[in-house]
Amino acid sequence: MSYRNYPMVARIVFGRGSFNQLEDLLEPKRSHIDAPFIFIVDDVFKGNAWLTGRIPLKYDDKIIYVSANEEPKTSQIDHLVEQIILDTKQKPSGIIGIGGGTVLDIAKAVSIMIKNPGLSSEYQGWDLVKNEAIYHVGIPTISGTGAEVSRTTVLTGPERKLGINSDYTPFDQVVLDPELTKDVPKDQWFYTGMDCYIHCVESLNGTFLNAFSQSYGEKALELCKAIFIEDKYSKEEAEDQLMMASWHGGMSIAYSQVGVAHAMSYGLGYLLGTKHGIGNCIVFDHLEEFYPEGVALFKQMKVKHNITLPQGVCSNLSDADFNTMINVALSLEPLWENAIGKNWKKTITPEKLKALYKKM
Ligand code: NAD
Ligand code: ZN
Repeated sequence: MSYRNYPMVARIVFGRGSFNQLEDLLEPKRSHIDAPFIFIVDDVFKGNAWLTGRIPLKYDDKIIYVSANEEPKTSQIDHLVEQIILDTKQKPSGIIGIGGGTVLDIAKAVSIMIKNPGLSSEYQGWDLVKNEAIYHVGIPTISGTGAEVSRTTVLTGPERKLGINSDYTPFDQVVLDPELTKDVPKDQWFYTGMDCYIHCVESLNGTFLNAFSQSYGEKALELCKAIFIEDKYSKEEAEDQLMMASWHGGMSIAYSQVGVAHAMSYGLGYLLGTKHGIGNCIVFDHLEEFYPEGVALFKQMKVKHNITLPQGVCSNLSDADFNTMINVALSLEPLWENAIGKNWKKTITPEKLKALYKKM
């Protein structure tokens, strides 16, 4: 057997206010005054001088605002890359993503596609990227997805929702400044936080579990419980701790895999555009048979934080719609193998998934 050799984020800064150091981090990486830094920023920060006023723009550096209302699409990446190449005299010195998982994934994908020919949909899958990405930096403003640490960038393409999983995907530099998460709305805080919680449950209960994943998964789970159940921290402490939980949750799945909630949530996302965090919650709420303890605790967290999940999201779907969702979910074979084991196809049938989706 051969063990996988994973790349990691090369450099990391952690601390409240560390965003102020961005200029010092970037300047040595500027290759030429005609090679700008491109800041891809969540448009929720447009007009927010507290954040955007600290983006260290020089020479031809640019901010491109993007919406996080929808998850990234391959066509959106291709369009952004074309725009950046047309607008810059030389290849950019780097791409800096400032936002949640949506924006971080866009920044990763753009940094890859600036150096690789063709369309981004041609690279959805595992290890299809040939050329190293340009320098890219991730600065999360909401905690939970682990996108800041992962080796993937999840994109919805013409045929599938699937990541560009490659050794060139992880960020060269990450800035973890928990203060940037201070204004996240409560519901969104819960949904994205639960993404981290679900990463832990799926990793710790999967057949791919190993000591590496377990060490990170257990720590992240402990932090999630302290934050979402035990109320152990002040607001600021909770921001710090959730940012580290996200990191550890991401590290945990790096060397294992996610499971049933993610596979089925991808189906919902593909067909209905349901976003990752809330989609995971909608699905996970009905997965007692797979994750009894994890789901019981999730239901407690939901009550504690007054979260009402949408009901009946699948009630008006046609058979063709169900088939689309089921095909997307079943195509994610490593997730099912992790969740159920090598013989997962015996129990995870289209009928089984349809019955589960019908409850949602
Ligand atoms: P998001 O980026 O979609 O943002 C959710 C909402 O929160 C948006 O409305 C956004 O504008 C808002 N927001 C973000 N930061 C804020 C702040 N500081 N203050 C106020 N509002 C703020 O949320 P997410 O849950 O972090 O990311 C979901 C995306 O991440 C999905 O596209 C999913 O596919 C992807 N994802 C990627 C990975 C990976 O490993 N690459 C893992 C999990 C999820
Ligand atoms: Zn996730």
